[in-house]
Formats: sequence, structure tokens, C-alpha cells
Amino acid sequence: MTTLLWFRRDLRLGDQPTIHAALAQSDRVVAVFVRDPRLDEVAGPGRRWYLTASLSALNEQLDGRLWIAAGDPAAVIPELARTLGARSVHICRDSGPYGRDRDSLVAAALRRGDPAVTLHQSGSPYAIEPGTVRKPDGTAYRVFTPFYRAWCALGWPPPLPSATPTWLPPPPALAAAAALTAWRAELPPSPAAHVVAGEVTAIERWRSFRPALVDYRTLRDRPDVNGTSRLSAHLRWGEIHPRTLLDDLTTAPGDEAFRREIAWREFYADVLAGSPDSARTSLARGWDGMGWDDPRDLALLPAWQAGQTGYPMVDAGMRQLSATGWMHNRVRMIVASFLVKDLHLHWRHGAAWFMHHLHDGDLASNSHGWQWVAGSGTDAAPYYRVFNPVRQGLTFDPDGEYVRTWVPELAHLPGPAAHEPWRHPAGAAGGYPERIVDHAQRRALALARYHAARGRPLPD
Ligand SMILES: Cc1cc2nc3c(=O)[nH]c(=O)nc-3n(C[C@H](O)[C@H](O)[C@H](O)COP(=O)(O)OP(=O)(O)OC[C@H]3O[C@@H](n4cnc5c(N)ncnc54)[C@H](O)[C@@H]3O)c2cc1C
Repeated sequence: MTTLLWFRRDLRLGDQPTIHAALAQSDRVVAVFVRDPRLDEVAGPGRRWYLTASLSALNEQLDGRLWIAAGDPAAVIPELARTLGARSVHICRDSGPYGRDRDSLVAAALRRGDPAVTLHQSGSPYAIEPGTVRKPDGTAYRVFTPFYRAWCALGWPPPLPSATPTWLPPPPALAAAAALTAWRAELPPSPAAHVVAGEVTAIERWRSFRPALVDYRTLRDRPDVNGTSRLSAHLRWGEIHPRTLLDDLTTAPGDEAFRREIAWREFYADVLAGSPDSARTSLARGWDGMGWDDPRDLALLPAWQAGQTGYPMVDAGMRQLSATGWMHNRVRMIVASFLVKDLHLHWRHGAAWFMHHLHDGDLASNSHGWQWVAGSGTDAAPYYRVFNPVRQGLTFDPDGEYVRTWVPELAHLPGPAAHEPWRHPAGAAGGYPERIVDHAQRRALALARYHAARGRPLPD
């Protein structure tokens, strides 16, 4: 008997519950990935290049035995199961809104084809499956710190041992190598064409970063140094499971800080699983009534997207994103605050741009990262906490190194002067643009709207 293992965002062989579940049914397993046109639409070229690199790495680990099909999974998976005579299809549970709907359609289609064929869900991309950590009264947490305590107290199992079924080779029409070559030929050129992805790279990255956790607490907010793990895309695509990381952590302060960051990812997935609409709408509905997207403000969006706002820290971040598909967390917060509180644009515009460009683009972390900054989400920073992009730059990039790396027009400005080119006689010599808005004025206007929406008087 043959069984089917359908890979989605769990592109690894180690610590893989689906392999164990498939093996429990049969030793003969078909490893398949379905190229779903609906998911293709939302990812920009960078993320699609990343995915092809990750699939290529998985195919290599499988000695060329990965199958790639294309089309609506609710049609493709039952058809494959029927052709192969498979009695079960194994997947890792997806708690996102699209994934959940897709999987119930696939399960229903399988049952319609043959009531004896089942869709088995095992494991999840999280240490603890979203929807599991609950308050004593059974409701979901809306605030991170108590979630974190309950999440730690609940705990997670250790990583699973490796298991190796007999992977069946694909027919030529479904061979991954050819499918990936054709897929890549369709993609526009991108710096991500040369990205290195996959489980082996993820594990190497974790091993080489692990000793640096000793400095994580002090360096994690500094975009000018390599102080974070850069594991986000690997986690996003399941090339490494968070359990593997957590299993290596101790109670040392740096390890503890890192565990908290992993828990933010779990928290946001939990919130999204409980409130699927929060992917696109504000959890705090009143926030939407504050009057966003005046056409004059919307006209400023392209400058933000292109890193041409005249605020060096914002522009450096946006250019880093376009060039690499990644942006430092501190800078994500700065550019997000700027879009919402300086440009007065709805967070959805920023979230969509991020999802298009980030290799680690993840609906839960992204939508809720944006809402945290906007002040419309769970456990949100209060709306009136507005990041000053210059002060943030001077604090977290004190020598201007990060800004000069991504904004070459400022390369001639020494040290922290790169954060305030308008104060320097030669500030515009490299062709750097003027500021598109006045931060102090825009902040005051944002706060005025906030207080008006809440019916409270303005503070002095
Ligand atoms: C507006 C905004 C949008 C974001 N969008 C995404 C996104 O689409 N995908 C994504 O993975 N992260 C997102 N983040 C969270 C965070 O910026 C990235 O996870 C982090 O920068 C990745 O770099 P790293 O792997 O070096 O992080 P590290 O500091 O090494 O952290 C380790 C891991 O913990 C998780 N993590 C860390 N911080 C956060 C956080 N604040 N929220 C959720 N998970 C976290 C990530 O999986 C990360 O890889 C967003 C943050 C903001 C403010």
C-alpha cells in the first residue's frame, strides 16, 4: 500500500510528525508539494524564489524523489490519491484561515472520491498547536505575558527521532527538478534568485548562531550588528521546527529572551487561529474609524515603499526589505509606525507590502506585528506611543552604519550625522530626498485624531 505525504509549509525531514504518521500506515510514501495558484498570487517574486530554493533543497534530501503537482489542491490531492491507490494523505495541521478552509475542502473531496480515504493531520508548525493554550476559563489569551507563562507551563514534547520511509520516485511529469526549473523560468529576476534555503542551511544557521545568544539581549535591537538569528524564513517554511530550537535552550538570560521571541510567533498564531478575521481587519474595531487613507496621504505611499521618505532609518529599512526580503525587527517597528502615525495610512497597506516582499512573510506574525505597532491589536502598544524615526535611529544605530549601508546617498556623512542629513551642510550632496512630512506636525495630527475618536481632550 502507498501513502501520500503532502508537504506545505513544513519543508524538512527531521523532527517531522507527518513522516511518523505516514510510516504507521505504510513504508511506501509519496512526498508531494502542490503549487497552489491562490498562494502564488499573494507572494511576491522574492518569496516565490525562496520557496523554489527550499523545495529544491528538500528534493535533494529526498534524492530527487519529491513530486510537484500544480492546481487546486482539492482537485489535485484526491486525483493523486486515486491514481496511487493511497488510503491516507498526511499533512501537518495548518491553523491559518486559508489553510484551514483548504484542508477541509481537500478532506471532503477525498471522502467524496472514496469514504475510506482519510486526511490525517499531525503536528503543527508551532511548539504548541494554536488553540491549545487557554485561560482557566477556557478562553484565548489576548495579552502576551500571561500567554507566555501559560505556554511555558504547558510545555512541549522533545524533537522526534528521524524516520525514513521508502520514498517513491515521481513519474517524469511530476518530477520536482523539472517542475522547479519551469517555475523559476516564470519568475522575474530578483536578488532572491540566489538565496540558499532548506533544512541543512537552517540547522547550520542555528548551530552557528547558538553561541551568540549570550549577547542576544543587548544586541537584538541593533540593526547595525548581526545580533539576531535570521531564522525567520527557515521557521516560516518549516525548514526547522521551533521545538528543535527550544530543546537547545537553557535558563540563561539570553536563552530566555530568545524563548520569548519564539513565543511571540506562537502567540500571534494562537490569536489568528481564534480570530481569523484579524488577518485583515483590526482587532480593536474603533481604530478603523480614525479616518485613514485621505487621498493626499495615499499619494505618499510610493515614497514609503521605495525608501524615499527623507527619513534615513525608514528608508534604510525599506531598501533592506526590497534588496534582501528581510528587515530587522526594530526597523520593522520604525517603518510601520511611520506609515501609520506619520503618513496616516491604514496598517493594511504596510502589511500587504511586507507580505509581498518578506521571505518570512507570515500572516499571523505580520498582521499582528502591524497591529501591535498601529495600536489596533492584542496587547498593543498604546496608539499614542509614536516612534520618532530620528531618535530611534540615533539610539539603535548610533554610528549610522546601518543607514549608510542601505542608503548610499548618505555614505559621505560621518557617524550619527547620517540620521539627520538636514542638519549637515553637505547633507543633500549625495542626492538624498527632502523629508516628505514633518514628523512633529504629523505626530500631533495623529494624536488629535486619536483623542477625537476616543472623545477625550488633547493632552497639553
Ligand atoms: C510590522 C511587523 C511585521 C512583521 N512581520 C513578520 C512576518 O511576516 N514574519 C515573521 O516571521 N516575523 C515578522 N515580524 C516579527 C520579527 O520582525 C521577525 O520575526 C524577526 O525580525 C526575524 O528576524 P530573526 O529571525 O533574526 O529574529 P530573532 O530575533 O532571531 O527571533 C527568533 C525568531 O523568533 C520569532 N520572532 C521574533 N520576534 C518576533 C515578533 N515580534 N513576532 C513574531 N515572531 C517573532 C521569529 O520566528 C524569529 O525568527 C514582524 C514584526 C513587525 C514589527
